[in-house]
This record gives sequence, structure tokens and C-alpha cells, in this order.
Amino acid sequence: MQHGGQAHNGDPQSRKHPQPYRKHSDQANGIGGTGTGATSYATVPTEYSAYPTFKSGVRSLIEEKTMAAVTWQGKGAVALREVDVPHVTNAEDIVIRTTGTSLCHADMHIYRGDVFDLKLGDIMGHEAVGQVVQLGSAVKNLQLGDRVCCSFALGCGSCEGCQRGETGRICDKAGHNGYLGKLYGERHSSLEGHAHFSSGGIAGCQAQYVRIPCAENNVLRVPNGVSDETALFLSDVAVSAYHAVRDVGLQSGNTVLIIGSGPVGQLVAQWVQVFGARRIVLVDSIQSRLDWAKQKLGPAIEATNSDSKTDCPHGFSQKMHELEPHGFDICFELAELAIPRRLGIGSLQKAMKTLSAGHGITHPLNECILAARNGGRVSIIADYAGQLGNFNMGLLTEKGVKLYGHGQPPVQRYWQEILEEYIMPGRFDPTKVLTHRYALEELPKLYDAMYNRKLFEESKDKPILKVFVQTKFSAEPSAGMPPVTKAHASNGAPHA
Ligand SMILES: [Zn+2]
Ligand SMILES: [Zn+2]
Repeated sequence: MQHGGQAHNGDPQSRKHPQPYRKHSDQANGIGGTGTGATSYATVPTEYSAYPTFKSGVRSLIEEKTMAAVTWQGKGAVALREVDVPHVTNAEDIVIRTTGTSLCHADMHIYRGDVFDLKLGDIMGHEAVGQVVQLGSAVKNLQLGDRVCCSFALGCGSCEGCQRGETGRICDKAGHNGYLGKLYGERHSSLEGHAHFSSGGIAGCQAQYVRIPCAENNVLRVPNGVSDETALFLSDVAVSAYHAVRDVGLQSGNTVLIIGSGPVGQLVAQWVQVFGARRIVLVDSIQSRLDWAKQKLGPAIEATNSDSKTDCPHGFSQKMHELEPHGFDICFELAELAIPRRLGIGSLQKAMKTLSAGHGITHPLNECILAARNGGRVSIIADYAGQLGNFNMGLLTEKGVKLYGHGQPPVQRYWQEILEEYIMPGRFDPTKVLTHRYALEELPKLYDAMYNRKLFEESKDKPILKVFVQTKFSAEPSAGMPPVTKAHASNGAPHA
């Protein structure tokens, strides 16, 4: 999923506190909604409830009928609910028992209601590791009990796009579950846990069990010796960072600027380090993130706090010019400071004005173009939606800078090589951005805290980057990994 390094402030009028755990029967009676937009959405139990179990040749270890899942309950509200345990609905499906999931920046877009076609009760989440506990008869490369990691981008595996290794971007069947599905009747490819918009409401994996369609293509078996914490990153973020670095054509000896030091920004920094970048400058306005990156990636990483008058006495642009007078070979934009929210042009202009007044970055994309050398490249990993005003087109054309959008990463093309060539030999360690571990039951509070940037305030010394979310099926934390911690709900006052 596309990622931003900065949390984005939401609309305080549209949020409510998550509600406590409530039985599914209550939800079906229509009293589950908590957000202001609740009445305009239909209530659906789960996306798979409507489909009968595909019984022929199915092998199963599941005994439970219901499970706990984090469900969308209106703008700015998620809640833990008891829902049906998923089941195989096609011969190509599997169901896994979740042993680890996570919270991604992309989940916050859904939480805020930025995504179209959300329905009450949609199960959140798109990163998971787990154990195969139900197996459709057509799945030949997996066994019950196998440990697997699930791709957030689901593809059929057999269309021309998937055969070319373009799943996630060009699967011919991706998206058929939503509006297109109504036209063509397909219902098994798209993004996991991304509501009903172009993804058919495939249930997410912030749940004790998750159904994976077209499983032969959409899970990777995790070898013994690779921890759940490590494997979890192959669902999305480690692969997203790798894809951007490969796609933009990074070469050994390049100079690199990375604006946005969230988990994906730091994973990009680690990848370009692995691939031999000559100079890596990492930028953020949160000092604890920069300190964390230097501690984990070593002193060769140069960190600049864009809001610091010490770091940038004459402004950010001037500082970048002083660092690389001829410009950086490649700049990565992960800051998402100026995302035009849906119909949010007014707030964008306000944000631009506020940002221009201080020492901070006026517009991360323009800053990247400005900081790049003539003929250099800019990689956009931040999450943009719709049109963008104030884009410096003149600067782009004058300098001959190449702008790269990367699309959804083709996870299935890369994950095996990342695992075998980089992770297992110890050349790349995605857990360097794993900072916290929480129980699934704590996730609604974590959404709230992330939304209100509460955690950023509480974590001055230790930033919150990537979290591992455990379920009742998880093993104890692996050696050296974060122990489980409690999440604290915010006091409800959005970060100003
Ligand atoms: Zn993600
Ligand atoms: Zn396909």
C-alpha cells in the first residue's frame, strides 16, 4: 500500500470514540454504528457470510464458530466485534489462524472514511502471518498447519498480468469484487481489508482468522527459523519499499534524499544502504524517528530535522542545497504533508499557508524536485489522492527531473527473493522498524491514539513505527523483539 511517513490530522467533527466489544447480533440489529456517517452505510456482518462453505474436498482444523475482529464502525470509529469465523468459499481458498497482524498507515485512511464504499462491519487490516487451518481442494502447494505470510495485494495468479508478475498492479481480475464485480460476477482478487471500493470488501486480517482467496498465489510459506515478526513485513511494507527502490532505478554510488522517516521511509533507507548508496539523507520533523534510524542503521545515515532551526537555520531548501549543491541523484517523497483530502481543498490551502510560514517543508514533492540534480529522479511513495494544486511543473520540466509513481507493489514477484537473498542471509532486517507489540483487543485504542497523534506525544524517546499485533494464537515474542504493551486511548482532543 502507498504510505506516508507522517500522521495526518483528521476532521475532529467526524470522529467518535470506538465502542466497547459488542456481540454480532447487536450489530445486525443496527445499533453498532458510532460514527456520524453511520446512518448512510449499510450494515454487513462479513463479506464471506453471504457465501456458503465450499464443502467439496475441504480439509479443516477449525472448531470455533465465531471470532474477534476489528471492524469499521463509521468515520473515526473501529470496534472489536464477535463475527463469524471465515470459511473456504471457493476450491482455491484457504483460511488461516492469524498469529500476527499490524496497523498500517493505509488503515488510517479507511478509519477516517477517506475511502469510498465502506460498510459498517468491514473487517480492517491487510498484513498477516498465520497458520493454514482450512484448505480448499484446489490448493496444491500448501498443507494444513503450514506457516504463511499473506500478501495485501491479492491476485488470481493465472491472468496475463499475474503471469507477468504484475499482481497488485495489473491483475486482470483485481477489483472485480466491487463495482466491477457487479458487472462481471468475479469475487476473488483485489486488496485485502480495503472495504468495498474496488476490492469487494474482502475481509481484512485484524482478526483471529482470515480467508485468503486464490491462496496458491497470495501466500508465501514461511520457513522455520524466520520469525513471525520478520515474516509479517513481507505482507506489505518491506516489499513496498523494495519495489520503489527497484522501480526508480537506484544504483550503487547514488546520493539519496528521503523525506519522511516513518516505517517505510526507514525501510527505504535500509534498502538503499544495502544497494550501495553513497550518501543517505533522512528527513523528518519528529526527532525521535531520526534518532531511531541512526541508532538502527548506523552513523552513515545523515539525519535532518526539517523543523529545527539548528538543522535548517536558513530553511529546508537552503539546507538541502548546502548538502548537495548539484542535487541528489534520487529523492524519495514519503511525507504526505500536503495530501488533498477528498474535497478538502480549503484545508490543503490552509496547511500550505501554515507550513510556508515556518522553517518546515513547504511542499514535500516540490522540495524533492528542487533538491534533485538536473536529470535526477523523484520517487513518490506518499499517498496522494486526486489532483494536486501548487505543483511546480516549471521546475520539473526545466530540470528534467523524472517523477515516479509506483502503483501497488507486486508483492508476489518480490517476496521470495527478499526472503531468500536478503532476509535469511542477514543482509536486510525489516524488524529494525518494529517498535511495539500490542494485543488485538488493544487495536481500537491504538487507532484512536494514532489518529490523535497521542502516541507521538507519548513516545518522545521511542517513536512508534511498525507494530506487531498478537492474537490468542500468537507465540511469545521472539528473542530481541518488543514485549507486549498496553495502548492508551487519547483524551479525545485531536492533535492541533
Ligand atoms: Zn499497508
Ligand atoms: Zn490475475
